[in-house]
Amino acid sequence: MDFDLPESAVAVRDGVAAVAAKYDHAYWSRCEDEKRYPTELYRDLAEGGWLGLSVPEEYGGGGQGLLETAIACEALCASGGTAGAFIYVLNPGFGATTLTRHGTEEQKQQILPGLASGEVQFSFGLTEPDAGSNAIEISTSARRDPSTGSGRATDFLVKGQKVWISNVERADWMVAVTRTIPAAEARPRTAGFTLLLIDVKEALAAGTLSYTPIPKMGSNILYSSQVFFDDVRVPAHRVLGEVDEGFRVLWDVLNPERIIAAAGGVGSADAALDVAAAYARDREVFGRPIGANQSIQFPLAQIKAKTELARLMTYKAAWLFDQGRPCGSEADVAKLTASQASWEAADQAFQTLGGMAYSKEYPVERLFRDARIGKNIPVSEQMVLAHIGTSMLGLPKSY
Ligand SMILES: Cc1cc2nc3c(=O)[nH]c(=O)nc-3n(C[C@H](O)[C@H](O)[C@H](O)COP(=O)(O)OP(=O)(O)OC[C@H]3O[C@@H](n4cnc5c(N)ncnc54)[C@H](O)[C@@H]3O)c2cc1C
Repeated sequence: MDFDLPESAVAVRDGVAAVAAKYDHAYWSRCEDEKRYPTELYRDLAEGGWLGLSVPEEYGGGGQGLLETAIACEALCASGGTAGAFIYVLNPGFGATTLTRHGTEEQKQQILPGLASGEVQFSFGLTEPDAGSNAIEISTSARRDPSTGSGRATDFLVKGQKVWISNVERADWMVAVTRTIPAAEARPRTAGFTLLLIDVKEALAAGTLSYTPIPKMGSNILYSSQVFFDDVRVPAHRVLGEVDEGFRVLWDVLNPERIIAAAGGVGSADAALDVAAAYARDREVFGRPIGANQSIQFPLAQIKAKTELARLMTYKAAWLFDQGRPCGSEADVAKLTASQASWEAADQAFQTLGGMAYSKEYPVERLFRDARIGKNIPVSEQMVLAHIGTSMLGLPKSY
């Protein structure tokens, strides 16, 4: 990959950074404390066209790729809006990137213009209480309802439960991962997955979908919820990809998710390093800035180096995805290293600020909480290491 970013990506980085600069750390901390969506910022991003980047131009979007989307997310997080990564993972990620690659013409015409303008929001339902990281074992089922017709045109009825589903309270659509063949009967075990586009508002109104927000430690700008499906009706034309063949589509959802999350991690590391370095330059103890002490300076420099490496890997993974080339291993490495850089930056920022790190006067306590979950989601550090071990080193599967 060329070391120069394409002009389109530089324009995105600068454009999003200019919008994000209007919303300082205090704004994000207020949204977090008041548990409220950053509506003003979201509207500004939408008006600038920064949310519809990856929607093709014929549907009103920017006609750009995952690289530009990832860079937008990075710029937003670097401004201090670290929970803002969810916005990019959910809408340009689960929504626009998935539909652009796998949606039917009808689905694209119905949904992509709203994603381009920011009016439409998405959620993604994969995780289940009894399956966790072992997605193969999910049990939410989609069965045909024979009373609605015959063959491929028959509606599906979705039954089951998901956990930790973000943004369902606001979402118009959910990409729901279901099983049309139970795990025990599927051969191979990856067969029998079907991805469905659930009209969330319609299902809520019908009383077939309900949710319970989970009280959580951070990222409180939106809910993450338990979701219950009680025969949610989904017309056959809302299948994403092919019935029973959803596992292939799923990887085109999970890889962009990892890459955008990695970009968010890189931006979050930038944000924490900025706060730490500014404090270390200013704060004087024993008659000199604390940043002159190598025990303060070197860890920050080390994390800065890791952040730069994670940034490159994130761009590479996004670029590969945009070329239609395999990007799973690169997405894993990007996600692993970016989440580590982000966490180490937040932790070291905490150390650098001394007692003041614990004060709400500074944003470090929020950055610290947001960064920690990046090691566990969207896929845990252990599972990413297991993938790297098997796919890049040819080692035996450990799970
Ligand atoms: C704030 C938040 C938002 C989320 N949003 C969404 C969302 O919008 N949509 C969605 O579908 N999901 C969402 N999730 C769920 C998230 O993707 C999962 O929490 C994550 O994938 C880990 O799964 P788990 O919590 O079930 O952990 P578990 O699978 O129970 O694992 C627990 C621990 O055991 C380790 N472990 C398990 N098996 C092995 C093994 N074989 N080898 C080594 N270690 C192992 C894991 O690495 C982990 O550390 C969200 C979670 C959070 C916290």
